Amino acid sequence: MGAATFTSLDETHDPAIKSWVNSANSSESDFPIQNLPFGIFNTALDVRKRIGVAIGTEILDLNAAIARGPLPGLPESVICACRQDALNDLMALSKDQIKEIRIALSRALRLGSSQEKNLAACLVPQRDAVMHMPARIGNYTDFFTSIHHARNTGKMVRPANPLFPNFHTLPVAYHGRASSIRVSGTPCSRPRGQVLNNGSEIPVYAPTEKLDFELELGIFVGQGNTLGKPISIEDAEQHIFGVCLLNDWSARDVQRWEAQPLGPFLAKSFLTSISPWVITMEALAPFRCAAVQRDGEAPPPVSNLVSRRNQEMGGIDISLEAILRTDSMRSKAREHTISRPAYKHQYWTVAQMITHHTENGCSLLPADLLGSGTVSGPSDKDLGCLLELTADNKEPLQLPDGETRGYLEDGDEIVLRGRCHRDGYTGIGFGECTGRIVSNQP
Ligand code: CA
Repeated sequence: MGAATFTSLDETHDPAIKSWVNSANSSESDFPIQNLPFGIFNTALDVRKRIGVAIGTEILDLNAAIARGPLPGLPESVICACRQDALNDLMALSKDQIKEIRIALSRALRLGSSQEKNLAACLVPQRDAVMHMPARIGNYTDFFTSIHHARNTGKMVRPANPLFPNFHTLPVAYHGRASSIRVSGTPCSRPRGQVLNNGSEIPVYAPTEKLDFELELGIFVGQGNTLGKPISIEDAEQHIFGVCLLNDWSARDVQRWEAQPLGPFLAKSFLTSISPWVITMEALAPFRCAAVQRDGEAPPPVSNLVSRRNQEMGGIDISLEAILRTDSMRSKAREHTISRPAYKHQYWTVAQMITHHTENGCSLLPADLLGSGTVSGPSDKDLGCLLELTADNKEPLQLPDGETRGYLEDGDEIVLRGRCHRDGYTGIGFGECTGRIVSNQP
């Protein structure tokens, strides 16, 4: 693997760099020149799906840019990966190749670049674009890596002993469903399933009455591994392409009935939403932080999941936000933030998820998606789902204008956002992951 580590900084992270795309220079922008996330888009005028790079309020059409020949120094294999209708081939490139693309894009979009004239014709306003799934996702695995989420939800059913003993030794996960992952903006049709009504022992088949969201980080695998060859904790970061926002919609009543003894199934697989822009691990380099320190009572993790580098820098400091827009709020152009958890509190790191996933020899593929599990912080305000925020509807949220919510109602919209800040660096954002609940009438 390359000598550069996952926290190496280079010219692309320099906060002094400005772009000739003016909107990218606003301190409010999610997409300054230090970010350069990849996504798939098309427009009404050109319906071909293609790779774009978000810059300010614009998208650089990578296909058009390459057709004009102004990204010098990139080998043919890299150029070919940039001209696809999904990010799979790009995600399969080596870290050195990804860095080459990032440097070429940064230099081309920089204020004073000789390529400005040529590339200005390759910009598409984001408001004119339709965003699509960033990649063809072969496999999806959802983890459970927040100790706060695990404790809060565990307490509801096992008050004396909320954490299972394995929580401290491995990042718990289940195999999810890749076929029902959709890009932000896709409506969430209230699912039907087996639901136990109060006082009954026989379930009925009905629309869920406990529709919830889960605020998570989505992690895209980069280069995969050969079946039978585990990825070591030292190498794990080399296999992570980037991250997005992920909403793991959940039907809590269906989940409660079906989940014993094998875990989540139909309560989760009706829809998973992801944000369209994939933030590369290279863009996140300035925002890496120490992994969570275990308290003295917790057993140590098993040795294959431990490295000094992971403990020192395996965390990511991302400020996340979950916002609710009810029909009433929407009519007044309002929204209401219901949670602001920070990703740095996750008990297990992304590298540990990769290593644990492959420790039995299981193969990961480029563009496989991992969910972090619900991101909840130590404060009871920083909780990543309504199950926790409302104590399973026992303490409904009090919203502006007298509205209350236990679980989501038809018309409600959940918006997820994320940003990274660090003094001395340019902050970067994730864009949004949105979804609105629509009713499911037979
Ligand atoms: Ca989840």
